[in-house]
Amino acid sequence: MSSITLKNVEKWFGETQVIRGIDLEIKEGEMVVFVGPSGCGKSTLLRMIAGLEDVTMGQIFLGEQEVTDKVPSERELAMVFQSYALYPHMNVADNMGFALKTSGASSEQINQQVAHASEILELDSYLQRRPKELSGGQRQRVAIGRAIVREPKGFLFDEPLSNLDAALRVQMRFEIAKLHEKLGATMIYVTHDQVEAMTLADKIVVLNKGQVEQVGTPRALYETPESLFVAQFIGSPKMNLLSGTGQPDGFLLSNGAHIQPHRERVLSSATQCGVRAEHIQLVSAEADCEGVVELYEYLGADSYIYINCQDVGMVTVRILDQSVYQVGQQVKLKLDRNSIYFFDKTGKAL
Ligand code: ADP
Ligand code: MG
Repeated sequence: MSSITLKNVEKWFGETQVIRGIDLEIKEGEMVVFVGPSGCGKSTLLRMIAGLEDVTMGQIFLGEQEVTDKVPSERELAMVFQSYALYPHMNVADNMGFALKTSGASSEQINQQVAHASEILELDSYLQRRPKELSGGQRQRVAIGRAIVREPKGFLFDEPLSNLDAALRVQMRFEIAKLHEKLGATMIYVTHDQVEAMTLADKIVVLNKGQVEQVGTPRALYETPESLFVAQFIGSPKMNLLSGTGQPDGFLLSNGAHIQPHRERVLSSATQCGVRAEHIQLVSAEADCEGVVELYEYLGADSYIYINCQDVGMVTVRILDQSVYQVGQQVKLKLDRNSIYFFDKTGKAL
C-alpha cells in the first residue's frame, strides 16, 4: 500500500482546461472519495492517477516515488469501473486470476490469491460459474476480486455501483466499506452520489469545475461547509437558502424578520442564509417566517414538508414526530440559531 500525492495537477484537452491545479495528499490506507456533479472532472483526475490519461502539468507521487510519466502497469494501482468488463467465456476463478496468469505467476500462487480474494468477497461457492450466471452485485464483486488478487498499491473505483439497483447499491456500499477495513488499503472512490461519499469516506474531496472546493471528513463538510456549493451538495435534502440582506449585527430576511446569529459575526456582506431541513421548527408563535404547505412527504421514520414562504422562498422542513400536514395549510417556522449559515454573493461562507 502506498500514499498518493498530487502536486498542482492540471489537465487540458486541447484548449479546454478540465483539471485546474489540484494539490492533494492521500495517506496510506485512507479511503478518499472524489465527489462532485457530472462533468466536474472526477474520472479524468482518477484516470490521471491510474496513468490512463497524460498529466498536462504537475506531478503525481505514489509514496516517495514520482510516477507522473509512468505507464499504468508500473504504478501497480488497480482500477474498478462501473462496467465490470468480465470475460464472458471464463469462470469466476479464471476471471479473477487472469491478470496474475498473464504476468507469469505459478498456478499455485494464482489459486492461493484467488482463494484469498474469494473468501474476502464471499464468492467461494461461485468460482466455477460464468459471469452470465451471476447477479449484478456478484459480477461487481468479481471485478473487485480481480483487483484484489493483484495486491495493488491502491484501489481506484470509478462509480462502481452506478449500474446496480438501489437496494444492491446499499449492500455493495456496505461491502466496499468492509473491504476497506479488512484490507486497510489506500482507496480512491469516485461518485456523484453524496450519500455514497458520506458513508464511505475517511476524507471527501468535493470537486467543482476541475477544482477542489473543499477537503474534509464527512462531518466537517456537513457541519462547516466553506462555500454555498459544498453546503448545497452535501446533505439531503439540499440546504434551504433564504434570501435577505446582511447587516452588521445580523441578517434581515426578505420578509422583514431579523435573524440574530447565536455567536457574534460580521454579516454585512451576506446575501443568503442557509438552514438545513432538520434545523427548522414549526411553531405557533414568535416565528421567523410563515408560509403555505405545498407538499407533504411521509417517509415512515420522518417526513418532509415543502413550504412556500413567498418573499423568503421555498423551505423544506424535516418532521420527526408523527404530525400530519395538509397541502394548503398555513404554518409558522423558527430557524435554529445555532445552525444557520451565511453566504456572501460569491458563495463564500461567512
Ligand atoms: P466526471 O467524471 O466528473 O463526470 P469527466 O472527468 O469525465 O467528468 O469529464 C470532465 C470534463 O472533461 C467534461 O467536460 C468532459 O466532457 C471533458 N472530457 C473528458 N474526457 C475528454 C476527452 N477525451 N476529450 C475532451 N474532453 C474530455
Ligand atoms: Mg465520470
